[in-house]
Amino acid sequence: MLKLTFLGTSAGVPTKDRNVTALAVECLNPYCSHSKASASQPSKKSRPWLLIDCGEGTQQQLLRTTLSVHQLAAICITHVHGDHCYGLPGLLASSAMSGRSEPLTIIAPQAINQLIEAVKVATDLYLPYTINFIAIEEVLSQDKDSQDNKIRLNITDQHHIDIDITLLSHRVPSHAFGMTQKISRRTLNTDKLIADRVPASKIWGQLQQGEDVYTKEGKRLYSADYVNTEEKRTRIVVAGDNDTPTCLQTALQDTDLLIHEATYTTPVLAKIQAKNLEFDPMHSSAALIGQFAQDRGVPNLILTHFSARFQSFDNPNSSTPNMGHIRTDAQSTYQGNLWLAADFAQYLVEGADRQVTVLGSTLDSSLSKLNS
Ligand SMILES: [Zn+2]
Ligand SMILES: [Zn+2]
Repeated sequence: MLKLTFLGTSAGVPTKDRNVTALAVECLNPYCSHSKASASQPSKKSRPWLLIDCGEGTQQQLLRTTLSVHQLAAICITHVHGDHCYGLPGLLASSAMSGRSEPLTIIAPQAINQLIEAVKVATDLYLPYTINFIAIEEVLSQDKDSQDNKIRLNITDQHHIDIDITLLSHRVPSHAFGMTQKISRRTLNTDKLIADRVPASKIWGQLQQGEDVYTKEGKRLYSADYVNTEEKRTRIVVAGDNDTPTCLQTALQDTDLLIHEATYTTPVLAKIQAKNLEFDPMHSSAALIGQFAQDRGVPNLILTHFSARFQSFDNPNSSTPNMGHIRTDAQSTYQGNLWLAADFAQYLVEGADRQVTVLGSTLDSSLSKLNS
């Protein structure tokens, strides 16, 4: 189960309603009963999260959520354009000042490491924690079948996230991160234990942990005979800027949710491309990504990274560019579950039934706290 909080949904520049791109992905364990019940009221412990892109001001956006930099397990940067990474130096520096000491994984183009090093030298920045930098170029140079082709983040011994990377098509190398969460749980077959006259004792716990054990009588009991293993799998794909959705053809296999940019509507994209033949911004229209998601059978689609010209209200009949235009453009080609992201909007993704639940907005809850 993954919980998403959009921290920035504007393309290129921030607006009054939207900051530039950033997305928090919390890794929840539905086998812990308190985890699901408290999805909208998180306890800060044991809730690791990942940050995908870090536009300028992301750290201010975080202050309006319950997310803590101490629980931040990894930062993934899709590409080097400023609206996706200018917030990184500030976030790293603030994490240091708030006492972070745990190592931090950063998965990004190699140039981002140079940016961090340059900022450290130029601004006398000392980071008291280790950065485990993983260059996307190196991951992509690995053989497709190699283990090094995927990055595994271990949350616990029975809960991990595998991250795979797909190259997209944009003005600079841009990437999508596929995130597959796998959580396993071992349950004891107590009926069989009782039937086999194995007394309820320490042995039960050892068997559940996967150990084969000997009874006092010297009989060997095999864990596999008494334990059922259940596994929950959730997969999302978060794409960076991209003008060719078919790049994601392979990545979308068995994916519960795609999050993709829809910077323009079809007419606005055509107008921009016709106006300056020398400069193609290399972004997708809502209809273009909608068509691909429809053809590929993607059940759930969240669009984000909207051009600042589109106002936040939803009225397809208005002459002012707005979310209603983006929505109708997407719905002209896509019939699955569609959402247009807004800053602080939250979603819960449960892989078992490919369900995406809208949790509302963290902003609403902080505003209601202010009003109460
Ligand atoms: Zn962008
Ligand atoms: Zn870009």
